[in-house]
Amino acid sequence: MRVGVLKGNGIGPEITSAVLQVLEATGLPLEWVHIPIADEAVERYGHPLPRQVVDALREVKVALKAPLIVNKGEGRLSCVQEDGSEVTYPSLNNAIRRELKLFVNPRPLRGIPGISGRYENLDVVVMREVTEDVYVGWEHRIGDVAAQAIKLTTREAAVRVARYSFDYARRNGRRKVSCLHKANVLNYTDGLFLRCCAEVAREYPDIEFDDYMIDAACYLIIKEPQRFDVVVTPNQYGDILSDLGAGLVGSLGLAPGANIGEVASVFEASHGAAPDIAGKGIANPVALLLSGALLLQHAGHGREAASVVRATRAVLGEGKVLTRDLGGTANTLALAGAIADRVRASD
Ligand code: NAD
Repeated sequence: MRVGVLKGNGIGPEITSAVLQVLEATGLPLEWVHIPIADEAVERYGHPLPRQVVDALREVKVALKAPLIVNKGEGRLSCVQEDGSEVTYPSLNNAIRRELKLFVNPRPLRGIPGISGRYENLDVVVMREVTEDVYVGWEHRIGDVAAQAIKLTTREAAVRVARYSFDYARRNGRRKVSCLHKANVLNYTDGLFLRCCAEVAREYPDIEFDDYMIDAACYLIIKEPQRFDVVVTPNQYGDILSDLGAGLVGSLGLAPGANIGEVASVFEASHGAAPDIAGKGIANPVALLLSGALLLQHAGHGREAASVVRATRAVLGEGKVLTRDLGGTANTLALAGAIADRVRASD
């Protein structure tokens, strides 16, 4: 199976090579297709996300993507479209999602016995809409005295992410989908998002549906996490809530994710490029590794995906080989090596 690999920057390259070793331990015939991005793509093609890279991602269909550094306030990027027109995106990560029409970012938050303390039974999947909301990046300045951003919600995108969430719930034996929003203040935008979710819910009478204000949901996921199962939410709330949830599980280094599209899908950790620890070989590879397991599952290799997840949870649960974010002293390669050994032993 051909899998695109975007090794990113910051901690990206070091966690990527560790993760590829573990995925290879499954014994699957995986062919890594290195796809340049950011500086490497600039060197080769003169642009951080040229058409050649978008086409290569479409061609491989599934890719593992490490995080990319985006400098605050200077991430804007123009991409030339097939018809020659240009679209400007707020960041390279945003551009990848939107150029590939990746419409939902599922981020599972699953506690780990031995690691997650009172959240070891946490089991929530955040379904973050990723094409709209304030992250469309339609901002403008009014001199130096003000700035405005537009929040976009369309019926098409809201219905699509809602339907994906209910289908996911049905496929995975989940009992409930909750819509998280702020429709009491954002009457039109979040109001439409909530209405679309409620409409789709009627097509799934076997799955329970409810909704919460996002602020209340942040409180309740900490106090009573068992209230939540699958949650569907606009882009920005999903971004923030999933980092909050990673904190409950125990580290951003444990939080995987996927970006699902019709043509291609890109699998990446919830965390960023962690420049504060980059190059030291101490980053936790688990979030990217579990994203790799989501990739295998998506590509129809459920058995191997389950083996990676089981091995990861077992090694972490034993508490002997842990990276620093989890209170241990092991480095990236030691943790990945211990998990790879466990995957091999389970065959
Ligand atoms: P971050 O997620 O990179 O880091 C936040 C904190 O978590 C840091 O203390 C970091 O050391 C720690 N951390 C993150 N991943 C870890 C891991 N695997 N193991 C151990 N510790 C880990 O967030 P940030 O510092 O706000 O952002 C850094 C850069 O990454 C920024 O340029 C940001 O724009 C970018 N970013 C990229 C993505 C992406 O590529 N998808 C996502 C978020 C942020």
